[in-house]
Amino acid sequence: MINRLKALSTLLDHLVNREATTGRCVTCLNKRAFQGLCSPCRADLPHNRLHCETCALPLAFAGPVRLCGECLTQPPPFTRSRIPWRYQFPVDSMIGRYKYQGQRKFARPLLADFSDYLDRTLTDSERPELLIPAPMHWQRRWQRGFNQSQDIAEYLGRRLKIPVGSQAVRRKRKVRAQRGLSRDGRLRNLSSVFEVRRPIPERVAIVDDVVTTGATTRALAKELSKAGARDIQIWALARTPG
Ligand SMILES: [Zn+2]
Ligand SMILES: [Zn+2]
Repeated sequence: MINRLKALSTLLDHLVNREATTGRCVTCLNKRAFQGLCSPCRADLPHNRLHCETCALPLAFAGPVRLCGECLTQPPPFTRSRIPWRYQFPVDSMIGRYKYQGQRKFARPLLADFSDYLDRTLTDSERPELLIPAPMHWQRRWQRGFNQSQDIAEYLGRRLKIPVGSQAVRRKRKVRAQRGLSRDGRLRNLSSVFEVRRPIPERVAIVDDVVTTGATTRALAKELSKAGARDIQIWALARTPG
């Protein structure tokens, strides 16, 4: 019986590995890809190594304090961000194909590597009790067919065994494009956009695909903090350089 179970589990491992190793690299079409990326392309991804410890904004040089100017002068309502890549080639086009064309295979290597990294590095005290996908206005979601933040949160939740609060927050209204607005203008534009609709535990992570200015995550974290969250993290695939 035990031998049979072992044989079955070896067969399953083999099938899972075959699934993981087959398929071409999504960026260069190399046949020897793992989870959709070949090793040279994986090594070339723009890792966000030097960054602000709170909001993960890429920093140009390693100063004595690993914080960006904004987090220094106006600390955000979240404790830290885990954002492994910079929003640069080829990560930007991989996320674009996933988000705007619904081609999930382009996100697969990023999702697999991100969840492995979180699984390896999350301590028990950092582990969120709930993942909260950045909510999308229903109209936009309807146009696009899915909310990529929710898709990412569900993948991470399954891999890390953390529940996902898809209904926890609602986006009440659409906001006009943030680009070109001043910092105050962005915050005004975002005030009262989010509504918390479920009880929020103390330790949560907001999940998004890309963090651009950080104004949206700040506004969302502020609402979650008003609703009782004490330790809020930001988890995203990529951060736009300042
Ligand atoms: Zn490749
Ligand atoms: Zn910062």
